Formats: sequence, C-alpha cells, structure tokens
Amino acid sequence: MYNYDYLIVGCGLYGSIFAYEAKKRGKKCLVIDKRNHIGGNIYTKEVENINVHEYGAHIFHTNNKEVWDYVNQFAEFNRYTNSPVAIYKDEIYNLPFNMNTFNKLWGVKTPKEAKRKIEEQLKERKIDYPKNLEEQAISLIGKDVYEKLVKGYTEKQWGTRATELPAFIIKRLPVRFTYDNNYFNDKYQGIPIGGYTKIIEKILEGIEVRLNSDFFKNRVEFENLADKIVFTGMIDEFYDYKFGALEYRSLSFEHEILNEENHQGNAVVNYTEYEVPYTRIIEHKHFEYGTQPKTVITKEYPAKWHKGYEPYYPINNEKNNLLYKKYKELADKEEKVIFGGRLGLYRYFDMHNVIEEVLKCVEKNLCTEEV
Ligand code: FAD
Repeated sequence: MYNYDYLIVGCGLYGSIFAYEAKKRGKKCLVIDKRNHIGGNIYTKEVENINVHEYGAHIFHTNNKEVWDYVNQFAEFNRYTNSPVAIYKDEIYNLPFNMNTFNKLWGVKTPKEAKRKIEEQLKERKIDYPKNLEEQAISLIGKDVYEKLVKGYTEKQWGTRATELPAFIIKRLPVRFTYDNNYFNDKYQGIPIGGYTKIIEKILEGIEVRLNSDFFKNRVEFENLADKIVFTGMIDEFYDYKFGALEYRSLSFEHEILNEENHQGNAVVNYTEYEVPYTRIIEHKHFEYGTQPKTVITKEYPAKWHKGYEPYYPINNEKNNLLYKKYKELADKEEKVIFGGRLGLYRYFDMHNVIEEVLKCVEKNLCTEEV
C-alpha cells in the first residue's frame, strides 16, 4: 500500500538513529528535513579545514557504557575534556567552580580554606527560604561566586533579572574541592574526530534522505507515503497550535573566520558580565586540537523566541508543561505517529539522552514486531 514503512520527519540524531535501527530490521525508510543539511543541531560544517559546530558547542559525554559503545560504532572520539573558562571584567576563572576558581577569587589554597570561605559567605547573607533565583544561588554558593560567575550569565540566558526568576531554576550548583577543571563528571567524554556530520552520514548510509522538505508544506502527500511516521519536529505545530504555542528560548550564532592561529586558547570561554551581550565564544579548532593557520570563532547570543525562530531550549515551567500535557494526550492516541526527539517530546536532551530515548523507542516499536 505505502512506498515506505517509516517516514521520519527530522534528520537530527533522533530521527537518524531511528532510521538506522529500522533499516537494520528490514524496514524501508524515508527521512526528510526542512533544513538544507543532515544532523539537526549537531551538524558540523568544515570551514578553513576546521569542523565548526554550527548550532553551538557540542561535547559528547555520558556515564552509560552502552550509549558510549553505541556511538563509538559510528566514529572515533578524541580525548577532549570540556574545561571552559569564564571571563568577568577581564578576570579569568576556571569552571566548574573548583579549587582553581576559589584560589583566584580568594587566594585560598586548600579545600579546608575554601570551605571556610564559602561558609563565611553563606553566614554573611543567611537565606532560609530563597524567594528567587538570586537568593537561591547566594544560599548555595555565597555572594562572590554568584555575582561574578552566575548572575550576569543567567540573566542573559533567560532575558530576565535574577530577582525575577524563580528559585527552582537552580537546584544545585556544582562545586568541586579539587583542582579539577573537567566540567562533566561523566566517565566517557570526547569529540568525534572529523565532526558530528560524519557520524550522521555513517548512520544514514543506504537510507533515502530528502532535504529542504518541510513536512507541513506537503503534509497530506507525506502522510500518504508511509505506513508509520516518526515525528521529531515541534509537537504543537503538528497539532496546528490548537491549544496554543509552547515557549522556548532561542539563540543566535555569529560565526567569524580570523586570520590568526589561536584566538582565545580554549574551545569555550563564557562571558559572565551582563553588559557583554553574548554568553560564550567558541573557538572550534580547540575541540580537535587543530593547528590550522586560521581560526573560526562563534559568538552565542541568547534570544527571545517567537514563532518562526529556531526553538533551542524548551521553557519547562508549569504553564508550558500543562500545555505539553494536552498535546501529549493527543499524541498518545495516535496509531500511525510516534513523537520523538527534543521538539517532539518538548524536553531538553543532551545527545546521550537522545540515544537512550531513541533506543527505548526502537525497543518498543520495532522489537515487539519481531516477536
Ligand atoms: P534536532 O537536532 O533539533 O533535530 C530535529 C530536526 O527536525 C531538525 O533538523 C529540524 O530541522 C527538523 N524538523 C523540524 N520540523 C520539521 C518539519 N516540519 N519538517 C521537516 N523537518 C523538520 N548535547 C550534548 O550532549 N552536549 C552538548 O555539549 C550540547 N550542547 C548543546 C548546545 C546547544 C546550544 C544546544 C541548543 C543543544 C546542545 N546539546 C548538547 C543538545 C543536542 O543538540 C541535542 O541533544 C540533539 O541535537 C537533539 O537531537 P534531535 O534529533 O532531538 O533534535
């Protein structure tokens, strides 16, 4: 009856892995994407022989060995360890907050001294019931770290003053009393040698892909092509926003080629002052220890999201979660459509979470058929 077993809307990590697993089980798949490239947000583009992370810095990290082994079948990963630095008014601090940060801030040398200093700071402004994000952060880490490294960055990210943001946004702030600048605590971490696009190319080998194809522009035609649909676009758009639009934070990226070999000496530099309009500058070559004569940097600006802008971070507050619940009720009744990925499930996922989610979905939808 149908030309394909599965139409997969969205050629990001979720859609691509679903297609790979379906093909492995003998299913005929068509993957479409409205963008002009594969990979969704993990897409990397070669510029000046450097793999540029077009949609922001992407560092693969996981504690899940199964996920790590899974992704390693498609690429070799290098030993990159994410150790960003923060710039606040020309002062440089190491992240995450660790002994290097505390030494720079207060001149303390031992964990005992650092803990004592934090305790002093907490006593200085004792807050038992934090009413907003500012009070919450100060109650967790004290005034110095908050004012220099948390306040401006968070306000830029959310586009709102910290005193107007709810306390629950920051549940905890990672603090480490060792001289260890590794941002993540995960067992496995790295960057795929040759960039993320290579991974997706390998995953999609032998699978039909149509780019520049928006599902909504030819909805009926696409729906009639396949027995089932895996939809990784926006769930509210799928239902024509009938209950209203889910909200996101957006970002804009400004890429620049510089005629110098090494611009900032690190892949990720955060700008924590409110007055600097971008939150980070990424220098892509450092993800892969590049020695190219030129360099490419990207400034990342947080932006308000409007319909039609790229939706990057779901705003999972009570209002949006309730709205999503209504859409999910409709989605659960669908017999032909499976929703997946960060937009279909309205949840922020790191890449390792996406792999876990899609493998669960494969298990549920493709493995039961085999029995
Ligand atoms: P996407 O990659 O967004 O793929 C969905 C695809 O669907 C898109 O290509 C889109 O064009 C397409 N689509 C949507 N609607 C339609 C339509 N109507 N018709 C056709 N196609 C459509 N994760 C990490 O693990 N480490 C990191 O360091 C990290 N850094 C990040 C930094 C930033 C700035 C952001 C925003 C995310 C970061 N992530 C990181 C998360 C990572 O990007 C996601 O986990 C991953 O990209 C999600 O994959 P996906 O397939 O769900 O979604």
